[in-house]
Amino acid sequence: QMRGDGQAIAPIWQRLVRGEGMRRLFVALRPPPMLRQCLLGTMAGVSGARWQSDAQLHLTLAFLGDVAEDQAERLDAGLSRIDAPAVPLTLEGAGSFASRGRVHSLWIGAEPEEALERLAGKGRRAARGAGLVSDDQAFVPHITVARINAGCGPVDGFIRQWSDLCAGPALVERFGLYESRLGSGGSAYHLLCEYQLR
Ligand code: ATP
Ligand code: MG
Repeated sequence: QMRGDGQAIAPIWQRLVRGEGMRRLFVALRPPPMLRQCLLGTMAGVSGARWQSDAQLHLTLAFLGDVAEDQAERLDAGLSRIDAPAVPLTLEGAGSFASRGRVHSLWIGAEPEEALERLAGKGRRAARGAGLVSDDQAFVPHITVARINAGCGPVDGFIRQWSDLCAGPALVERFGLYESRLGSGGSAYHLLCEYQLR
């Protein structure tokens, strides 16, 4: 994979979108295969849930929203300067996110390990350095495993079933800048650039 240096973004921008404009970007880790197997193994027991595919599994470090090309180049340069150790990733517990009282996603948690939290902080700092407003919410490390809507069955059984889950650690040695695009089977996430950890 490409290592970002600011120059790398321009050709990608041209290759992946028709024309110019903004793109929806986020910085994330890909769980290693062993953990993805485990995540896929949790995906049952909630009727109507839209379970995520293997390709969709990620842990968001920093969400950037819509970004213009010149900002993305600066972001890529900032991300490529991050010097941080590899992250020992451990899956831990389960939960849900809701808005206005309605559950919309189910997730498996990640242990709030120091290397992970520091990396998220560095990703958000790189975003601010590029003039972007990164999310300033508390970092809740998680991997979304299902999308939920009003027609779905209850989710509390799922959360209880996986509350004691502990899998890993598995070492994550790189992180990526991703583009999110709305697709027919939910959002599709495309790796734009990848950055090596120590
Ligand atoms: P969809 O929005 O189509 O249901 P999605 O939420 O996975 O799918 P995006 O909204 O593009 O797709 O988000 C990409 C990633 O960033 C996801 O991991 C999502 O949880 C996270 N994310 C989205 N919005 C925010 C936000 N405001 N703050 C923090 N993280 C966010
Ligand atoms: Mg979303």
